[in-house]
Amino acid sequence: MHGYSTFAEYQCADRMAKTPENVMDLLENVWERAKVCADKERMELEEYAKNIGEDVEGGIKPWDWRYIAEKVRTEKYDLDEAIVKPYFSLDKVTEALFAVSNRLFGLKYTKRTDLKLYHPDVVAYEVRKEVGEGEGDLQAIFLHDNFARPFKSSGAWMSEYRSQTKNLPTNADSIESIPIVSNNNNFAKGGDSDGKYSPTLLSFDDAKTLFHEMGHGHHGMLSDATYSRLSSTSVLMDFVELPSQLMEHWFDEPEILKEYARHYETGEPIPDELLAKIQAAKSFQEGFRTIEYTSCALIDMALHSLSEYPDDFDLTKFEEEELGRLGMPVGIVMRHRPAHFSHLFSTSAYAAGYYVYLWAEVLDADVYAAFRESGNVFDPDTAEKARKFIYSAGNTVAPDELFRQFRGRDPDISFMLEKKGLSSAGAPVS
Ligand SMILES: [Zn+2]
Repeated sequence: MHGYSTFAEYQCADRMAKTPENVMDLLENVWERAKVCADKERMELEEYAKNIGEDVEGGIKPWDWRYIAEKVRTEKYDLDEAIVKPYFSLDKVTEALFAVSNRLFGLKYTKRTDLKLYHPDVVAYEVRKEVGEGEGDLQAIFLHDNFARPFKSSGAWMSEYRSQTKNLPTNADSIESIPIVSNNNNFAKGGDSDGKYSPTLLSFDDAKTLFHEMGHGHHGMLSDATYSRLSSTSVLMDFVELPSQLMEHWFDEPEILKEYARHYETGEPIPDELLAKIQAAKSFQEGFRTIEYTSCALIDMALHSLSEYPDDFDLTKFEEEELGRLGMPVGIVMRHRPAHFSHLFSTSAYAAGYYVYLWAEVLDADVYAAFRESGNVFDPDTAEKARKFIYSAGNTVAPDELFRQFRGRDPDISFMLEKKGLSSAGAPVS
């Protein structure tokens, strides 16, 4: 196929990973560690199940795993959404978002109520880059479209009504080079109930999603490329989630949470005890999550690394044999089994590409470590390097080169392992 011996080779050639072997090195390393971690989780769940009189003879079954895990989670962390949410009003989280954006990249957001928009829920901001005392250069128009409504696509995403470009026709107005970037969410809108106003309140995960999408937003707004086809998020697939996942880290900073996670009625900052519970609950079931994801990525690579597909190729049998060979842990199934794995078969975009999420996690954990190492997570020099090599270059420079320019070396997997709590689990012995 175009000179490549397998589809996986063909796909990886135009990605940061470059070869299937590089992808497999990452996946196999994580896989072995996650198995050890998931095994411990299984034992914990089985112990709990026995204590409440459930029959787990022969090991916990996949259809019972989430049920038991939810019971353990509730008991262990006692996290009630109704207690957490009042600390994360959309207004306060947006304030935090703009404050982080300002401290990192000097961007200033001013609401524009005079612009005609496509829906009354959408809020428009003009975004200027602060320079000294002046008003600063117009950098972008940012649209925040946060609420669910009929006929709106589900989920959260960033899109652009105009991408940044410097390649304008001779007589064009220079405003046309300014990107128009939108962040979209599907939050339930607050409002008046029982005669009492209640603001839009977010779960911790929703609040983090706001930061994630703003990472993509920065990729669009800070773009500095000549041609729009190479600007903004038009980067290789295993690099595109780095800008977004990187932004999520600032939302985990106690400094930010203490300042902006405030009760919408009392204005009190979130109690330390509640914050500690939220942080502790995050790593709960990390082994399970990593296994159900990584098994999919491994099957994807195995499937697309075959050089021949006989006419009677049996996908179910292939799945069974591969999972057996990999030693799929008891009680866990793939997040997407091949028959409904639309990532792989609806288009070719994610075929031999389901690994990209984990790949980006290696990158974002490593990049954030650079901020940590500087002793200041808002360190101006590191932020300027992040702007230059991660947020503004688009696809004008190869991503592995951009990473090296930022970090001075190739990506190091250890920061991601540490973040996932997999550093010591099942480490290869030498
Ligand atoms: Zn994303």
